[in-house]
Amino acid sequence: MQQFNKELKQKREKLQKIKDNVTIDRLKDLNLTIKVIDQLLTKYPNQKTNYPNIFLEEYEFLKKYKFLWEICTTISEFTSDEIRSYYWYEHNLKNKELLELSNDFFKNATNKEIYELFLKLYKQNKNIHFVKLDKNSYFKGESTFLLYDKSFYLQLQREYDFSDISTLIHEFGHGIQFLLNYNYNLFVNQVCFSEISSIFFELLSMDYFSKDLFFKRDAITAEQSLWDNSCENALSLTRLFQVFESIDLNEWENKNIIKKKLTNYLLEYNIDSLLNEMPSHDFPYVISYSIANELYLMYLNDPEESFYIYKKIMAIDLKLPPDKYLDEIINLGVLPTENLDKYEKVLKRKLV
Ligand SMILES: [Zn+2]
Repeated sequence: MQQFNKELKQKREKLQKIKDNVTIDRLKDLNLTIKVIDQLLTKYPNQKTNYPNIFLEEYEFLKKYKFLWEICTTISEFTSDEIRSYYWYEHNLKNKELLELSNDFFKNATNKEIYELFLKLYKQNKNIHFVKLDKNSYFKGESTFLLYDKSFYLQLQREYDFSDISTLIHEFGHGIQFLLNYNYNLFVNQVCFSEISSIFFELLSMDYFSKDLFFKRDAITAEQSLWDNSCENALSLTRLFQVFESIDLNEWENKNIIKKKLTNYLLEYNIDSLLNEMPSHDFPYVISYSIANELYLMYLNDPEESFYIYKKIMAIDLKLPPDKYLDEIINLGVLPTENLDKYEKVLKRKLV
């Protein structure tokens, strides 16, 4: 993660220096941009082993999104009993070739408007970095948008398999959302919806490359593994919700009482392995996946229609309370989990 951090630090210094010379209007954006950089630079905490604390953190985060628990539970019902092994071919593609493949994808599989947005990001290729795989790192790819100068930074850890392509396109998916509608609240209250755009394009890329003889097997494997992972993560989350419900936690109780209850539960039942997974980290991905997947099914039927609805979703006010944000998505006719059984069949057909 070295290169990326170095540049962001330099950018931070530059912004600090000009702070006194900007208008009040721009100062707001500038301060926010500095805050985003600071958060990015301190994002990787050490693995925690204090289970009561993890338990409490998981609870505090997940209880805010109780209205989304049902989506997880529905997805978890699709978890397969089979233990699948995925085989990934090794691809020795150069960084430049990866970028060209992402360009091919956006050019051929999306529409003119989205392709033009992609090009705005693509042209900033001096901010796009490829780094060696760091096994300790939590993120395979990450990107950030600096509101102050509308710059887009992306870095990808190379694994030398198909995931390099789909992750790169996933990150560009974030960038396209940032260009369409950026508000810091996307990472706060709206965090559960912050992966819709990225996962949507990631799914589209899997479909696109499944038509390419060279990448076909990998693209289908990637789609299968994304589905399996999402179902399994939804299952872990559902187990955690069941734990919360069995303790009968009341939102009005104070923190100390809750912590005591959780600690007592931990003494009685061993759920360390469940907590080790920190299911709340996967929660935004599962929720966003459920919506991106509906858009993807729409795309398979009628690409233009899906892009139209996609843009409408991106235009939803990011400052809304999250339950209202979901209402807006539903009002557009996108019902999370509505077509999961249909999707399961689509995927099965591809696997034949
Ligand atoms: Zn993402």
